[in-house]
Amino acid sequence: AEPLLRVDDLKVHFPIEGGMLLRKQVGSIRAVDGVSLTVNRGETLGLVGESGCGKSTTGLAIMRMLTPTGGRIAFEGQDITAYDKAQMRPLRRRMQMVYQDPYGSLNPRMKVRDLIGEPLVVHGLASDRRAYEDKIASLMRTVGLLPAMADRYPHEFSGGQRQRIGIARALALEPSLIICDEPVSALDVSIQAQVVNVFVDLQQRLGLAYVFIAHDLAVVRHVSDRIAVMYLGRIVEIAKRDTLYRSPQHPYTQALLAAVPVADPVVEASRSRAIVSGEVPSATKPPPGCAFHTRCPHAFARCRTELPALRDLGDGQAVACHLDEANG
Ligand code: SF4
Ligand code: MG
Repeated sequence: AEPLLRVDDLKVHFPIEGGMLLRKQVGSIRAVDGVSLTVNRGETLGLVGESGCGKSTTGLAIMRMLTPTGGRIAFEGQDITAYDKAQMRPLRRRMQMVYQDPYGSLNPRMKVRDLIGEPLVVHGLASDRRAYEDKIASLMRTVGLLPAMADRYPHEFSGGQRQRIGIARALALEPSLIICDEPVSALDVSIQAQVVNVFVDLQQRLGLAYVFIAHDLAVVRHVSDRIAVMYLGRIVEIAKRDTLYRSPQHPYTQALLAAVPVADPVVEASRSRAIVSGEVPSATKPPPGCAFHTRCPHAFARCRTELPALRDLGDGQAVACHLDEANG
């Protein structure tokens, strides 16, 4: 069957302008540089990588809040790559986004009722007052908030509750896909699991699909069916969830996995907070060859000159690395 979302060779390059008087382009930031992925109905694709790897930009491009500089995006079978605002409008009901910052993404002057109901108003689905109020109460209950709190303002809620408000708002139009951009990263660790469980529970009840963006492999483990690992604008490994944790093939995935927090708080406290040692190179001037070679413990001569292609290993796993290519 046709996947819900299909992204082929997506590129988002931002121009860098230079010169004091002449606004001429002196380079480009290759934020996303050839990403291909699919998401099926009711499925969660985890999208993981350090900040600056292009995962949020990929999400914004899928939402068509950014215009891709190359590639193709198809949603529910329609090629939306070149859609303008008016063409995207009916599709906004089907694809929604939940943002990282539950503090900054909600208008502080709006009551919860209006925050959750705004998408319904914008799409002309609020004509019957009674049905509208019922819908808001039901959305609040769906995400575990008391409908009696509908007249409160965002500042009266905790971070976790605010993120529930953001989720209820995203659910109002009954989307088939939600792009979740690090939706728990700004929350206290103690409540991250609760909010992740809200996502999992909603998926089971409503059959939603998610692209679930995170900067480490700990958060996505519980929600994802498949996981794609990004490094400097490209997917370096993609696999089914269990395969990725059991048998990671890319050295970067292996490093991310080694950084996943362990349950023992004593061991955890002694760990470095850095996910992988070494600086992430600039996306303005990505290293030639394999972009990970400046930090890879296994790098050899070929890695510095030749870009490894994403190689299919079977059973949904693919890796972009020159290691073991002969046996692969
Ligand atoms: Fe490391 Fe080379 Fe593989 Fe890149 S291609 S991840 S540098 S071994
Ligand atoms: Mg981001």
